[in-house]
Amino acid sequence: CGIVGYVGADQSVEVLLGGLRRLEYRGYDSAGLAVIDPHGDLHTRKRAGKLQVLIDDLDESNLQNGSTGIGHTRWATHGGPNDENAHPHLGDDGKLALIHNGIIENFSELKAELLAEHPETVFASETDSEVAALLVGYQYQQTHDLSLALRNVVGRLHGAFTLLVLHEDEPGVVVGARRNSPLVIGLGDGENFLGSDVAAFVEYTHRAMEIGQDQVVTIRKDSVTVTDFDGVPVETREFEVAWDA
Ligand code: GLU
Repeated sequence: CGIVGYVGADQSVEVLLGGLRRLEYRGYDSAGLAVIDPHGDLHTRKRAGKLQVLIDDLDESNLQNGSTGIGHTRWATHGGPNDENAHPHLGDDGKLALIHNGIIENFSELKAELLAEHPETVFASETDSEVAALLVGYQYQQTHDLSLALRNVVGRLHGAFTLLVLHEDEPGVVVGARRNSPLVIGLGDGENFLGSDVAAFVEYTHRAMEIGQDQVVTIRKDSVTVTDFDGVPVETREFEVAWDA
C-alpha cells in the first residue's frame, strides 16, 4: 500500500527501494518498480512477497538504473497476491507502466468497454488496476501527451485511487493523479519526488507540496505542475516536513 515516484539523477532504483522501505509500515503483499534507462527503454520488475524478494530479483537481473521511475507495494484487493498481479501494469504496447493504490469500483464495466473497442487486448493480470493501465496506454496512442492521457481516463474511474504513470516516449516525466487516496510531492534540487506520504522521500528532501482531491501532477527533474482533472492549473501550497530522517 505504498507509492513512490522519482525523476532526477540516474539513481531511481535506490530512491524507489528506499522509499518503499520507509512505506513498509503501511503493509503490503507484493512489490514492484518500473524504470526508464538512459537509452529510453522501460524496465519493469515485480514480485509477490517481501521487498527483499524484489531486491534479490533486481540484483540477479542487473536491472539498468535510470533517472525516471515508479515503485509500488501492493495490498491485493482484486486478484490474489502473485507476481502477475503485482504492479506495475503495462499498456498494450508495453511502453507505458502504471501503479495504483486503491480500488477501481467500476473496473468490470470499463473492461467490457475496453474489450468492445479493442477486442485484441490481452490481460496479463486479474487486477482492477491493469484496466486503467490499458486505458491510459490507448489514450496515449491517440494524444501523445501523458498528462492528457491520464486525465482522459481518471474522470471515468469510480472509487479510490492514487495512480502514477510513466511512458518510454516521455522519458523524464512521471504523472500522478489522486482521488480518495493520498499523494504528496517532494521538491528536490534537480530532482522531484512523489509519495503516498512524506516518508517516501524524507531522506532526500523536507520540502513538500500537497496535492488536492481530484488533481493531477506532472513532475520533471526541474519542474512540478498541478492541475485539476480538466487540466486547469491549481494553486499548491508548499510546506516543510518536520521529521528527522
Ligand atoms: N486494487 C489494486 C490491486 O488489487 C491495488 C491494491 C493496492 O492498493 O495496493 O491490485
